[in-house]
Order: sequence, then structure tokens, then C-alpha cells
Amino acid sequence: MNSPADGGRAFNFSAGPAALPEPVLLQAAEEMTNWHGQGAGVMELSHRSKAFVSIAEQAEADLRELLSVPDDYAVLFLQGGATGQFGFVPLNLGGGFTGADYVLTGQWSKKAIAEASKYLSANVAATGEESGFSHVPEQSQWNTTPGAAYLHYTPNETIGGVEFGFVPGGIDVPLVADMSSTLLSRPIDVSQFGVIYAGAQKNIGPSGLTIAIVKRDLFGRAQSALPDPFNYQMQDKAGSMLNTPPTYAWYIAGLVFQWVKSLGGLNAMAEINERKARKLYEAIDQSDYYSNPVQPDCRSWMNIPFICGDGSRDDDFLSGATAAGLHTLKGHRSVGGMRASIYNAMPEAGVDALIAYMQEFERTTA
Ligand SMILES: *Cc1c(COP(=O)(O)O)cnc(C)c1O
Repeated sequence: MNSPADGGRAFNFSAGPAALPEPVLLQAAEEMTNWHGQGAGVMELSHRSKAFVSIAEQAEADLRELLSVPDDYAVLFLQGGATGQFGFVPLNLGGGFTGADYVLTGQWSKKAIAEASKYLSANVAATGEESGFSHVPEQSQWNTTPGAAYLHYTPNETIGGVEFGFVPGGIDVPLVADMSSTLLSRPIDVSQFGVIYAGAQKNIGPSGLTIAIVKRDLFGRAQSALPDPFNYQMQDKAGSMLNTPPTYAWYIAGLVFQWVKSLGGLNAMAEINERKARKLYEAIDQSDYYSNPVQPDCRSWMNIPFICGDGSRDDDFLSGATAAGLHTLKGHRSVGGMRASIYNAMPEAGVDALIAYMQEFERTTA
């Protein structure tokens, strides 16, 4: 492998914006100045042009196929990030309701709750806080509110590396999921959800694009004052082109969907992702030097935080890793330590290289 200084690519463990599949980047580079004989690149095409509309429609069709999205769900290509959705969900679903239920499992759900509280009463139905957010509270202990507008949860907490091993069942209000760091990592049953949303920059494409998948029978629950571009029903009617959408990010996401399909779809992705994660957790668990704080049945496939010994060699670990072509392993600023994000675009060889580096570092310094 060429070093980055010589034009090669590093294994990029960033939590987001994260690595994209190399074949996608190479195709985009090839098409950068002239997309399919248009004499212009995708960034330079009108979103109303036949060429861009064909890109947009193909991307939506491919995403629907990958996730088997039922016909009574809208698939929206929006802006504003997952953080925008923290507010747009209560604004779109909270009309006529006094409150909604939230499951608090880490820093992203905490932010979702704080934002939603501006628009309705956000009740914490369950919290993993007493374990330092190292587990998912069992559903039998949740304290849900009858008549809530919806129940919101975060299937994968990107910072803490805590992932739900189950989809909450028997909930009689719409289930809303922030799937920013897990969408497309494995198959899901969309019909179990009212709303699924995800910022693209983890597992889907470039930042600037937010995917929302919304059951259309929830339209009509919008609160009265809501900006049009963030109104699910209006965006559905407009094909997500009420105003100029993030065209280039939409196009790259479309290339990513085709890449996932070429690998065999979400069953194949799940198999690869499960194997990559298992290897890395095994390496951590088998060592006396590295550790991961998350309860084993709640460990994320996508974001794996770990600490090295007493933390005194963290800087050496990180600088050695960077020199070995293993980039952005520093943990989130709020928790420290290390974090390896191993989304779909991280090849298994990257995980193998990380494990080899960790073992060598332990052998030579611990
Ligand atoms: C990254 C992330 C967010 C924030 O996404 P933005 O697009 O930056 O707003 C929210 N929730 C989860 C689970 C995330 O991983």
C-alpha cells in the first residue's frame, strides 16, 4: 500500500464524515467534469434537469430496494443533518400531542431529547445513565406514556458504541429511530417504524444529506408552524425538491447504494460487518491491555471505543497508528481513549491491520 504522502489511501476510522467506498470515489472522479455525456458534472446540473432527476430517482429506487421499503412510506432526501431531525420529528409528529417518549442511551439521544423539549414534553421512558451508558435498558423496564406522540430511540449510539440488539416491540405509538450510524449496516424491517432518519455522513454518503423514511399515514400530525423544507408531507409531494436539494451528496449516496447492491445487499453487509466487529472485540477481550466498556450484548458493530492500559500511552498509540496508515482513531472529545468506526466502507483488511498494530503496540510498549 502506498503511504498517504505518496498518494495512497489510509484506513480511515473516522466516526463521521467517514470513509467512502473507494470504487465510489473513483467513479465520481471519472464523472466529475462530464456526467454521462452531459458536458457538465453533477454539481453543475440543475436539480430540475432530466439528467439529475434520473440520478435522484435511481438512488431512491435503489434505497427502497435495499431496505424493502413498503409503498406507503416516503423516502426523503433532506438537509439539516440528524440534529435537524431532532427538531423536525416533534414538529412533524407532535401536532395535537402534549408529549413524546424517549429512550436515553447516550449522548445522541440526550441531544435529541434536549431539542425535542423545545416543542413538546420529552419524557425519558428509560435511561442507561446509571451504567455510564454502557448498556441498553431492558424493554420490560421502560416506563412509556399512554397517548404519547411517538417513541424515539437511537439504535446505535455512535459515541458510546452502544447498539440495540432488538427493535422495541409491542409499542402502540409510532416508533422513531435515529439510525445515523447504523442504517445500511444490516437488514431492517421498515414496517416496524413510523420514522427512520439518518445523517448520510456515517454509512451512506457525504455530509449535507439527511435521509428520512416516513410512514405516510403520519402526515397530518404536523405542528402549525414548521418551515416548508422540513415538512415531511410537502417534501414527499415535491419529490424532495421543494427547494434545491444537496444534489452532489444525493448522487454519491446513489453510487453507494449501487455499491452495496453489488456486494450482495444488506444480508451480505451484515455478514461482513458482524465478522469485522467480532474480530476486533475478540482482540480487545483477549488482551489485558485493551478494554471496551460496553456490556457484550449491547456492543456496536459500527463504532468500537476502547482504552489502552492506563491511558498514559494514548498519544503514542495514536501517532504510531497514523504512521502505519491507520487514521482518526482518537476517541470522541467527550470520552477520550480510542474509537474505531468500522462502517460498511471500512474493508476487512483495515480491521486486520488495526488488530495487528494493536498487538504489536502492546507487545513493544505494555
Ligand atoms: C452523527 C450523529 C448525529 C448528528 O448528525 P448531524 O448530521 O451532524 O446532525 C446524530 N445522531 C447520531 C446517532 C449520529 O451518529
